[in-house]
Amino acid sequence: MGRLMGAIETDKELSVYESMAARFDVATKKLNLDEGLTKYLRTPNREIIVHIPVAMESGELDVFDGYRVQHSIARGPSKGGVRYAPNVTLDEIRGLAAEMTWKCAVVNIPFGGAKGGIVCDPEKLSQGELERITRRYTAEILDYIGPERDVPAPDMGTDEQTMAWIMDTYSMHVRHTVTASVTGKPFDLGGSRGRKEATGRGCMIVCDQALKRFGRQRDQTRVIVQGCGNVGSQAARLMHEAGYKIIGVSDIHGGVLNTRGLDVPALLEFVKENKTVQGFPGGEEINNMEILEQDCEVLLPAATESVITSKNADRIRARILVEGANSPTTPPADSILFDRGVFVIPDILANAGGVTVSYFEWVQDRQGYFWPEGMVNERLKHIQVAAFSDVVRYGEKHNVNNRIAAYMLAIDRVAFSIKLRGIYA
Ligand code: NAD
Repeated sequence: MGRLMGAIETDKELSVYESMAARFDVATKKLNLDEGLTKYLRTPNREIIVHIPVAMESGELDVFDGYRVQHSIARGPSKGGVRYAPNVTLDEIRGLAAEMTWKCAVVNIPFGGAKGGIVCDPEKLSQGELERITRRYTAEILDYIGPERDVPAPDMGTDEQTMAWIMDTYSMHVRHTVTASVTGKPFDLGGSRGRKEATGRGCMIVCDQALKRFGRQRDQTRVIVQGCGNVGSQAARLMHEAGYKIIGVSDIHGGVLNTRGLDVPALLEFVKENKTVQGFPGGEEINNMEILEQDCEVLLPAATESVITSKNADRIRARILVEGANSPTTPPADSILFDRGVFVIPDILANAGGVTVSYFEWVQDRQGYFWPEGMVNERLKHIQVAAFSDVVRYGEKHNVNNRIAAYMLAIDRVAFSIKLRGIYA
């Protein structure tokens, strides 16, 4: 199998945009895509920068920077999360928006890609401040979003409540309730059953497929999860319930390791009360980066980007890497993992369960008819199993690793739609 990963200088390896671009370049070359189309697919459709004035609890006025990048609308409205974090940059949002285009195409749902973000620290803001930031951000980008244009969803630092505020602000402006304007909403406001668990469930579905490939049983499989937010906690809970042995979980403050297997329900109860895994009595304390290097069969990064780099990839001991987070592995790390024989399930496949059930939510909102949870989970499984098999078969056929196969498959699908729409006319 080819070792092609994408050339990138090590000083740029932490840039999400550069990582995406390096992989994109390898995939488009392999696909023999023409120069004009390559340029078109590399460039975002639209980038919006807003500066949001917000009245703070202190009585003072502050101004926050916000972004929304719409990478592609070739296959349908653009779709993607909104993240609140102090280190958000336009470059990161641009890279993640493009990744959303490829992700929607890998699972073959009718969306393009987008991403948004606000530079702020949600842990230091009150609910009132968060609500005012969210409403003003929504008002600023209102002309460019909506069910037929661009549909936001939660990401790091945002949740169901954030989506409810966006939906309400959008609806107030257009003067009727538009539930399909966002996904990842509370169920009582038009959310979908199974959405909260969807990304974690999707990670488990593709991990199950990898296990099948290697003839391994769940109860012989030790799993380490980095991140205990929406994706990490749901993946840990569902995988524990399914019989996997979860031996380590971490968050931004630290981690906990128990080689005999963690009591995951007790851990999640502890996290609910203490807002961190640090200090959980059912295991030893471990640093949140060291936890990645522990002996296990499955490593599931579900926290943030660029955590597996040229600096630590040679110490990763997992056999299977399930990328719950977006862009957790840099291209130089890809090469090292490939040489070490790690089976990588790339982010645009592994964590696509979230956007897939978001698609179901958008469909249900537009129909005004809601599906039982069993149906949501069954349809999610159907899509992720098919996408896993498409990617692995594509990789075997074209002699490339799973990451490049996923990119090639996605780019091929988007390019085909563009050609069908007659862009050269
Ligand atoms: P979240 O905000 O709910 O949780 C993030 C978790 O990561 C928290 O536990 C935080 O403490 C931890 N964390 C942050 N930095 C860390 C670090 N350096 N080391 C260890 N832990 C760290 O976010 P989320 O929604 O669970 O998203 C996590 C990742 O998954 C992001 O990359 C996001 O883009 C991606 N993702 C999320 C969804 C979704 O449906 N929520 C879908 C697809 C991809």
